[in-house]
Amino acid sequence: MRRTRIVATIGPASESEEVLLGLVAAGVDVFRISMAHGDIPSNIERLRRVRAIAPDVALMVDIPGPKIRACSFGTVAVPLIVGHRLEMVEGFDETSTADRIVVEREGILHGIKVGDRVHVGDGGTSLEVVEVGSKVVLEVMAGGNVMGKPGLSLPSSALNDRLPTDDDRARLEALRDESFEILAVSFVRSAFDVVSVRTVLARPDVMIMAKIETSEGIANIDEIVAVCDSVMVARGDLGVRLPMEEVPHLQKMIVRRGVRYARPVVVATQMLESMTHAHVPTRAEVTDVANAVLDGASAVMLSGETAIGDDPVRTVQTMDRIVQRAEESFDYRGWGSGLDIHQVGDDDRRTTRITAAITGAAWRAAMEEKAVAIVACTRSGMTARAISRFRPPMPIVAITPKESTARQLRASWGIDRILLSPYNDIDDLCDFAVTEVVRAGLAKSGDPIVIMAGSASGGAQITDTVRMVIVP
Ligand code: PGA
Ligand code: MN
Repeated sequence: MRRTRIVATIGPASESEEVLLGLVAAGVDVFRISMAHGDIPSNIERLRRVRAIAPDVALMVDIPGPKIRACSFGTVAVPLIVGHRLEMVEGFDETSTADRIVVEREGILHGIKVGDRVHVGDGGTSLEVVEVGSKVVLEVMAGGNVMGKPGLSLPSSALNDRLPTDDDRARLEALRDESFEILAVSFVRSAFDVVSVRTVLARPDVMIMAKIETSEGIANIDEIVAVCDSVMVARGDLGVRLPMEEVPHLQKMIVRRGVRYARPVVVATQMLESMTHAHVPTRAEVTDVANAVLDGASAVMLSGETAIGDDPVRTVQTMDRIVQRAEESFDYRGWGSGLDIHQVGDDDRRTTRITAAITGAAWRAAMEEKAVAIVACTRSGMTARAISRFRPPMPIVAITPKESTARQLRASWGIDRILLSPYNDIDDLCDFAVTEVVRAGLAKSGDPIVIMAGSASGGAQITDTVRMVIVP
């Protein structure tokens, strides 16, 4: 039983029914559709197809924000050689070459200054601006091969777009009536960005995932985590905007920060990159995936590996094996006891504090009495996510009356079984929970089970009860 979730990005290599079903069988918990590629209608069609073929897998839609790309360099690698000078221009549907990079964004070159650094793609190729005025000239400082439409990282001063960008607004509009669980928002820089996107989307049933990939996102991490529902460590862009030696440490910081607030945290990008074409990953990649698990990530993500790779199913099977092995070495007790019982941050509402306290009590009771399962009865999913943050070694079972909550919980760490139940009364819920946990083979007569349930208290439905039930 794997407890860390796997997110797989869908693309041309994985959208056939056969591959999608293969990915489900290999253990994918969340499918991601990146709207950075393709037009809106084709992405909406892809979303519907994936939902129809794999209705039990959670769906994440990723909006690209102010991601800037170069016009295509073509399908043959173009070398950018150190010391070479080239021009940068704005345009659409043109071709980029080793002498002239065409940027697909109007007005973007205005903000650029001599001395600014521009990174091309994720591969470490970087240029420095040496001349502005009638034309913008750059010199190659770190060389490399580029092909296709690489992303361009320009200094933040040039990126003053507010979120959501106009393009993202059109995407959110098109998503208004679609069925999906998570909206990943690229280049989040502040809590305000998250709130703005949430307002425009106007879908309380969709979780907002803040992609942390800029220095502003790092500086404002607490306020962002407080207002979003989940977080992504977007290492690709993070590693070109900040010194890349910071990435492993930022990953640990973001994971801890997110989990403490009971937000699922996804570690993303280049996890099994070499498997895009190779049969086996590098030993460094295997170690990276295992370390993400040991860092406490809720989920690990595959991007190009499953979107355009040679063997998406094999890649997921490989990730599954690495994760399962790493979980055997995870220090469950240490993680839970190192966590503040109280969730921290701006969210100082009484209901949040009560959920934090009740789940802390449930975790301690379950550890002391060696419970065989923890059951969270939850409407919004919050109670289940709040107990998940302790990383208990025993299975977590979530019981919810809402189908959208059930699907969202697939992105959370260790919520091993998700059941739908119409019950409201605490006694009925507990009976149902015990019956189901026994039926699932997780408990037998004499075993202790910890159950958390709620009641209407002061007008709001909150989780306010912990019970230790010995299976009759
Ligand atoms: P992207 O985000 O793949 O949409 O750019 C992830 C990252 O930057 O790592
Ligand atoms: Mn990114």
